[in-house]
Amino acid sequence: MQQPDCPKCLGKRRIMKADGTIMPCFDCLIAGRMDQHDKNPKDSGVKI
Ligand SMILES: [Zn+2]
Repeated sequence: MQQPDCPKCLGKRRIMKADGTIMPCFDCLIAGRMDQHDKNPKDSGVKI
């Protein structure tokens, strides 16, 4: 088993709260682990 680099989100980069809301893991955010891994194609500036 691979050790998750973040104990808070277990490497998933997001955290689901008790009410079902999914939000980015703040620990990964401030540590700079969010780059590329979780990039959304819709946010890359593509316009129709
Ligand atoms: Zn995290």
